[in-house]
Amino acid sequence: MIVILGGGPAGRLASIRLASAKKQVTLVENGGIGGQCLHSGCMPVCAMNDVARLIHSARELHDLGVVDSVPVPDFPVLLKKMGEIQQKITSVLDAETRSAGVDIIYGKTGRLSGKSVFAGDEELKADAIIAATGSRPFVPAIPGVDLPGVFTSKTLPGMKVLPEKMVIIGGSVVAAEFAYIFSTFGCNVTILSRSTFLKDTDKHLRALATRELAGVTIRENTPVNSIGGEGRVSSVRTPGGQLDTDAVFLAAGLVPNSESLDGVKKGPIGEVVVDNRMRTSVENIYACGDVIGPPYLTPVARHQGIVAADNILGIPRTMDYQNIPRSISLTHELAYCINKSDGMGSLAIPGPAGPGSFWSVPTGETGLAKVIFEPETGELAGICAAGPGGGLIAGYMAFLMKKHFSVHDFEEFIEVHPSTDGVYGLAKYASSVLKKRDLP
Ligand SMILES: Cc1cc2nc3c(=O)[nH]c(=O)nc-3n(C[C@H](O)[C@H](O)[C@H](O)COP(=O)(O)OP(=O)(O)OC[C@H]3O[C@@H](n4cnc5c(N)ncnc54)[C@H](O)[C@@H]3O)c2cc1C
Repeated sequence: MIVILGGGPAGRLASIRLASAKKQVTLVENGGIGGQCLHSGCMPVCAMNDVARLIHSARELHDLGVVDSVPVPDFPVLLKKMGEIQQKITSVLDAETRSAGVDIIYGKTGRLSGKSVFAGDEELKADAIIAATGSRPFVPAIPGVDLPGVFTSKTLPGMKVLPEKMVIIGGSVVAAEFAYIFSTFGCNVTILSRSTFLKDTDKHLRALATRELAGVTIRENTPVNSIGGEGRVSSVRTPGGQLDTDAVFLAAGLVPNSESLDGVKKGPIGEVVVDNRMRTSVENIYACGDVIGPPYLTPVARHQGIVAADNILGIPRTMDYQNIPRSISLTHELAYCINKSDGMGSLAIPGPAGPGSFWSVPTGETGLAKVIFEPETGELAGICAAGPGGGLIAGYMAFLMKKHFSVHDFEEFIEVHPSTDGVYGLAKYASSVLKKRDLP
């Protein structure tokens, strides 16, 4: 039997892979199948962003006199509807996993102790084990962090009314996405980022993100000393002074859920240490997904789950962290896949950003298209596609980058028009620039 701890994207995909290969598989899940992605991560951000984009668009059209009113979100109704869809998806995932042949034990905490595995107090006999217990929001040790009115993505359903003022602590993608949502919903949002906001992001994309967050106050290099309030949060103190607020949202990163995994080697933040086949320091115990640390992305967690399963099945397979696309969901999908930028050539243009294509009509807003390439060979080293469909473009371009495509390969590319086709056209143009340079 193979025991899998955690039914998020990593554990669930691993379990289906193994059961499909006729292995007896037991999945232990102490929360909801689908994990953080479905219950408090990607799905809630998508659901709330859908509404935010609608309001954003209506507001722009209203300001231009094209439509006569701007919808106002009913936040409790949105949370309720979101919860209903999450329930529906949970049932679908449960049925899909069981019909693949996986036994699921709900409501018990899985635990490792050396080579032994437990579901609650019951020891399970296993030939191999996969730890896929995921991660949770990091709660920094700031005085006042336990006050009512302080939320994380996990506790967000407890926010019964929209606050007038909100402070978001963190400078990451999640901070940016929630800032966009809440500011578009009408909250007065301030981001307090300990270092540079979106510090690991391409400079063009960061500039675009900051433009799309024009209604948000972003304070960089601003640590938080304490959160204050009598019985409920009412202020946040920084070295520069005090800010009044009705709510605090913590977007200070994620930490691996590895406390129940005894015996396997762990790193500085508690992440389980694995090799590129997802093998831990203990024979026949594998780990995958957020519990092994960043990049904390669902497609990566799923892929790691498959890699772990295949290795258990005796199919040697390794994890490759090159060419991983990602996205920041604001007014547009600010999607990108960048392997290398130092010493590379690059071209950037305002990208098509209307719902179909062209620039947004009638506001004239633009997204961004960018290609980064090796100056001698033209091999693609990165792309940014910020506009409708950006995520799709980045996913496929990342795949072509994995296959070592160069900008010259795009000479033969014919796109659909209208579409969000900035990146492909730019790659063609980069090819012509490189070829012109080589002319005598
Ligand atoms: C706000 C937010 C937004 C995000 N947005 C995106 C996005 O847009 N795109 C993207 O790719 N990624 C996004 N992510 C990251 C994504 O959610 C995670 O990378 C992904 O869920 C990791 O999958 P996992 O299976 O490793 O872990 P998890 O999804 O965390 O699942 C782990 C599962 O294990 C269970 N579990 C934990 N401990 C035990 C135990 N001891 N015994 C039994 N069960 C246990 C948990 O209940 C959970 O169901 C976001 C995350 C957050 C917080």
